[in-house]
Amino acid sequence: MTHLLHRSIHGRLPVAVGGKGIHLFDADGKSYIDASGGAAVSCLGHNHPEVQAALHAQLDRLAYAHTSFFTTQVAEELADRLIADAPAALEHVYLVSGGSEAVEAALKMARQYFVEKGEPQRRHIIARRQSYHGNTLGVLATGGNEWRRARFLPLLIETHHIAPCFAYRGQREGESDGDYARRAAGELEAKILELGADQVMAFVAETVVGATAGAVPPVADYFRHIRRICDKYGVLLILDEVMCGMGRTGTLHACEQDGIAPDLMTIAKGLGGGYQPVGAVLLSGRIFEAFAQGSGYFQHGHTYAGHPMAAAASLAVQTILKRDGLLDNVRTMGDALHAGLVQRFADHPHVGDIRGRGLFRAVELVQDRSSKTPFDAGLKLHARIKKEAMARGLMVYPMGGTIDGQNGDHVLIAPPFIVAQTDIAAIVERLGDAV
Ligand code: PMP
Repeated sequence: MTHLLHRSIHGRLPVAVGGKGIHLFDADGKSYIDASGGAAVSCLGHNHPEVQAALHAQLDRLAYAHTSFFTTQVAEELADRLIADAPAALEHVYLVSGGSEAVEAALKMARQYFVEKGEPQRRHIIARRQSYHGNTLGVLATGGNEWRRARFLPLLIETHHIAPCFAYRGQREGESDGDYARRAAGELEAKILELGADQVMAFVAETVVGATAGAVPPVADYFRHIRRICDKYGVLLILDEVMCGMGRTGTLHACEQDGIAPDLMTIAKGLGGGYQPVGAVLLSGRIFEAFAQGSGYFQHGHTYAGHPMAAAASLAVQTILKRDGLLDNVRTMGDALHAGLVQRFADHPHVGDIRGRGLFRAVELVQDRSSKTPFDAGLKLHARIKKEAMARGLMVYPMGGTIDGQNGDHVLIAPPFIVAQTDIAAIVERLGDAV
């Protein structure tokens, strides 16, 4: 095969030819448990007949209409549904085709908001070191992963990074959760003051950090402090829930568990469950109003925004998710997965931390449990675990300690929301053997 993606940093890849439920099948007839949901994408599993039917029906009606000429019923219905289920503060939707596009659009919305309001000096973006927000130049700059950024500098827009809230690595011995939450959030205030209180546009964070550090939830009250600090200085809060959102953590939006709502929220992956490329920005009424009273529109646009096929897939996925009460299963099976991992790895000398929320869990590997020292990056331990897992018919999502060696290799486990107890047992067993 000459397809560039077929030979990637992951080496030569098997050819996927089919899927059903939580399983994928390759051209050699081998079956894999999709315990990563791809990259936390597949929430209903593969080849769901009702989603397939919804896509066929939409294809028969209309595949495409450009948004500068038409809206479509299916896109409007999806937008209404997303707003009905969103935190009350979020009143409008902007549909795009993926996660990077969503974060990129959110950043431009934040910028245009301040331009419309006559505060063009607000241009600084603050984000967090352990974060991933996508791969286009704009959002690559926002992400805090030095390894990803390095070879594209100096093209990236200036972004200021602070430490994330990461209890395993950041919380001091004896420090209470409350004190740690205040201290970690305090970094944002210090950075705002350093840059100039009226110069900062937005703070961007993943509610639960996904790919870069492995399912890192904030400690209680961290985001309440963050919300308060953003409000105090008029800084917009952008939560990136591309990976952790749409039910993955056991509530539709992860931030529901933190008791706050952002000004802008990005969603993708689980929105369409992998059936179509799709993403969205949910935005507050005041941002929408600033556009309405200013230039009258958001100066942005992509050819495939609001694509009818993407909207049909998303609407079907979200309807089934609700109808089948799958968030309950995310919580129950998430707890079972956590308990299984804790039991399997209790005595493992190199498993330093097991963490996450819902069906968004990770295991972090370290040389030594007491010092938490990561393995040498050159070992590529995470890639070796992935290979061992694939050999055992298990897909997990690994990542190295690529954040300046600050955290260890980790393995993210994010199966579809339809997993059963027996699947959880098989995932834990195969991962245990692979590690
Ligand atoms: N934000 C987060 C939190 C992500 O995890 C990702 C994808 N891993 C993105 C943005 C980018 O999404 P996409 O790959 O669809 O462009």
